[in-house]
Amino acid sequence: MDFELTPEQKEIRAMARDFAEREVAPGSRAFDERQEFPHEVLRKLGATGLLGALVPEAYGGAALDYVSYALAVEELNRVDGSVGITMWAHNSLCTNHIALFGSAEQKARYLPELARGETLGAWGLTEPGSGSDAAAMKSRAVRDGDHFVLDGTKAFITNAGVGRIAVVMAVTDPARGSKGISAFILEKGMPGFSAGTPYRKLGLHASDTAELVLDHVRVPATQLCGALHQGFVNCMQVLEGGRIAMAAMAVGLAQGALDQALAYMKQRSAFGRTLAEFNGLQGMVADMGTEIEAARLLTLRAAALKDAGRPARLAASMAKVFASEVAMRAATKSLQIHGGAGYITEFPIERIFRDAKLTEIGEGTSEVQRMVIAREILG
Ligand SMILES: Cc1cc2nc3c(=O)[nH]c(=O)nc-3n(C[C@H](O)[C@H](O)[C@H](O)COP(=O)(O)OP(=O)(O)OC[C@H]3O[C@@H](n4cnc5c(N)ncnc54)[C@H](O)[C@@H]3O)c2cc1C
Repeated sequence: MDFELTPEQKEIRAMARDFAEREVAPGSRAFDERQEFPHEVLRKLGATGLLGALVPEAYGGAALDYVSYALAVEELNRVDGSVGITMWAHNSLCTNHIALFGSAEQKARYLPELARGETLGAWGLTEPGSGSDAAAMKSRAVRDGDHFVLDGTKAFITNAGVGRIAVVMAVTDPARGSKGISAFILEKGMPGFSAGTPYRKLGLHASDTAELVLDHVRVPATQLCGALHQGFVNCMQVLEGGRIAMAAMAVGLAQGALDQALAYMKQRSAFGRTLAEFNGLQGMVADMGTEIEAARLLTLRAAALKDAGRPARLAASMAKVFASEVAMRAATKSLQIHGGAGYITEFPIERIFRDAKLTEIGEGTSEVQRMVIAREILG
């Protein structure tokens, strides 16, 4: 058992940390307050190669291992959850779905521009009537000669408005249940394909979340991504990697909460002492630090299993449920340590507290992760 990162992994982490602190942190509060998508930050992130993290080099990607990718996701989220979730949905969901299951033509056509970050990607599984029970989706793709015609609505889709390309799941054979669902690559500009009005959210204000509307979208059958009726099965593989990245997102948010608590405790005084000198608060940061390290280890272990080509479903769900709940606990404790200052928007902990909640909901809720874990360990 080796807990040391390789020199290359340390380099990726340092690069992501430097980018987050230099290019992301200065604008985070303003973008959050204005509920504005940080296009320029994403453009610069593309230039680092991190928007092609999981894309093979042959298609212009960085072809990072999952451990490196998780470290980069953690560093971005440590500073800004909105930039973090944008990068996560683009890499782990849309781009990775095409990289894993797209045809050679689809990979050559879409991956290079996605990898460079010239185009952002979205991924539509959830619908207004089906989230945890995703296979109950109603969107339909009906064959019409050498085309498919898609109708339906996808809900809560990250990058729905800012993304030009989306992988969208639709039912191709209602009689086959989850084995009758297929994935399609859609492009903005295809008649009938559009994004709805962005939702107003509790947190992640600078990320773009909206519906994707499919109104009689007629696409050539060559837009099918992966085999016919295999879309849902393929989604499960996409989600396995996505859960590891969302666990890393939670670790980053939790670490950000701890960073903020430590800085505040050293500068704020009460009863003639700094907050850092109070035993009660020391116990809180000790618990936060310990839990964050445990969440990080679970996350990197799941990433290492994936890199080794070993089954990672159980490890991914364990990492995701644990890390996301650590993120909420750490954000709550850090806000408490800030006292009244934690409740106003001047300090980053207020934003982290709102952003962290998503990690317990997206990519499968905590209840769904526990269902997966129970199923795996019960056998
Ligand atoms: C900001 C944001 C970004 C998102 N981005 C994307 C995206 O890019 N692409 C995408 O496809 N989706 C995305 N989602 C959707 C997300 O994955 C779903 O919200 C999530 O899977 C939960 O589904 P739901 O909201 O329909 O909740 P529901 O499934 O309706 O769940 C409601 C409650 O019931 C519980 N529950 C459901 N079934 C069970 C059960 N069997 N046992 C116990 N409890 C159960 C849930 O845990 C939850 O507490 C995003 C959501 C948000 C908020």
